[in-house]
Amino acid sequence: MIKNLFMPRRRRPAANGLARAAAALHPRAMISDPRAALFADVDTWVFDLDNTLYPARYNLFELVDRKIGAFVAALLGVDRGAARRVQKSYFREHGTTLRGLMLNHGVDPQAFLEFVHDIDVARVPPSPDLDAALARLDGRKLVFTNASTRHAERVMERLGVAHHFEGVFDIADAGYVPKPHPETYAAMVARFAFDPRAAAMIEDIARNLEPAAAIGMTTVWLRNDSEWGREGSDGAYIDLVIDDLTGWLAGLGDGAPAA
Ligand SMILES: [Mg+2]
Repeated sequence: MIKNLFMPRRRRPAANGLARAAAALHPRAMISDPRAALFADVDTWVFDLDNTLYPARYNLFELVDRKIGAFVAALLGVDRGAARRVQKSYFREHGTTLRGLMLNHGVDPQAFLEFVHDIDVARVPPSPDLDAALARLDGRKLVFTNASTRHAERVMERLGVAHHFEGVFDIADAGYVPKPHPETYAAMVARFAFDPRAAAMIEDIARNLEPAAAIGMTTVWLRNDSEWGREGSDGAYIDLVIDDLTGWLAGLGDGAPAA
């Protein structure tokens, strides 16, 4: 694939009058063929991990969430209800509970991450379909997560897709400054040395796509019912909305209409 670094971004509606008119009727009406319209020049695919590489319906993150609650309760010597309020307030204020715990209580991040990710990943089933879809998708594949690399590896191994991914950029790589802080995106791009204008990012938390779009990445929001995940999902920084990662990727890989 020839990559022209100076090619203008094509994904914004202003690039095309017809698309702009269609977008005025419906924000996403312009996307009739997502592969041709948005992804033809994408050579780097950046995936979030939790509730993205596997569907949220498996509730794996619930296990992490409970362990975070237990950690906070033990740390502060409070009951689970009080711990949960602290957990969620830090999460909302800082992007991860860990960030709040580090800033307010000097928590050792490695000890925290080891504890909260010590979960049984068996509730996520292997996904031969995702494996096949990733195999047919050209380009580099990366994971960009607010969790730990060990957690990402365990989940990817369970899904049977680990061999497709060149690397994981985790919360330690981010200096514990989580998505959606823009500097973390810059660090991730620098680590893997790719052109963000030829990259796509796929995420279940809509707000995490805003900094990706700001540096030129094409953004894909995996629609979900989580209040936190949906926040900001009507933003112009979302290029495409999908409901099923595997089905969408399979369509990209074989050229069939997707999403
Ligand atoms: Mg996620």
